[in-house]
Amino acid sequence: MRILLLGGTTEAMALLAALASVPHVTPILSLAGRTRAPDLPPTAYRLGGFGGVDGLRAYLRAEAIDRVIDATHPFAEQMTRNAVAACEGAGIPLARFTRPPWSAQPGDIWQRVATMPDAARALGTTPRRVFLTIGRLQVAAFEAAPQHAYLLRIIDPPDPLPALPHLRLLPARGPFTEAADRDLMQRERIEVLVSKNSGGAATYGKIAAARSLGVPVIMVAAPPDPSLRQFHDLASVLDWLHRPAP
Ligand code: NAP
Repeated sequence: MRILLLGGTTEAMALLAALASVPHVTPILSLAGRTRAPDLPPTAYRLGGFGGVDGLRAYLRAEAIDRVIDATHPFAEQMTRNAVAACEGAGIPLARFTRPPWSAQPGDIWQRVATMPDAARALGTTPRRVFLTIGRLQVAAFEAAPQHAYLLRIIDPPDPLPALPHLRLLPARGPFTEAADRDLMQRERIEVLVSKNSGGAATYGKIAAARSLGVPVIMVAAPPDPSLRQFHDLASVLDWLHRPAP
């Protein structure tokens, strides 16, 4: 069975490792190729976009793919939409392997917003010390609120850099622990954290750290997911692979 695994997440890497011991399965990991030094597997992989729905459909045909597992990030909206459309058109079974979003715990001070521009507005007019942990693609939304001092944790720097007079970059790749994130937020005198509601364990440390420090969080909700078949744990995905195609 040839499987296209759409990745870019810790979940995809965990699934890839688990598939290594499944007989008769050949996974091909696909990465968008955005990070400069991506984590590459020892198994088959490909880098870069497919060229939209038509490109993906052509790839599925050319590579004789039997099943697709979309393990992209909950905020990788376009790729997930494309996978749904291409697999539907090609009659190829598709499953989504993703993490449930975080939910607020007692002690959390969350303001939930729907979009990144909403998050920038929610920071208010009074200058604050902001810990931005939203990746680099939507940083420009905060140009609407240049009065704040931003600490932007990022794998690769945004290009171009956003026009923000008080911006510092903190190059780092997760996972991050709660203890390290608490130290960082205390040292930097962070007053508010902006986060995507990405779910998962790898970046939860900052959320727990904010709770223990009483730091409010502006939490950007994940976009709606159009996938019909969703799994949140490895065992269920592996079980789906063992079932005959519908
Ligand atoms: P996106 O907006 O959904 O995708 C934009 C385009 O990038 C897609 O249409 C596709 O190009 C290409 N692409 C995305 N993921 C791909 C993959 N796994 N393999 C091949 N092509 C891919 O995605 P994004 O938000 O820019 O995220 C890019 C990648 O980073 C994703 O793989 C995601 O898992 C990972 N990631 C994203 C976030 C986030 O917050 N968005 C966080 C951590 C990791 P074509 O249309 O040309 O096929």
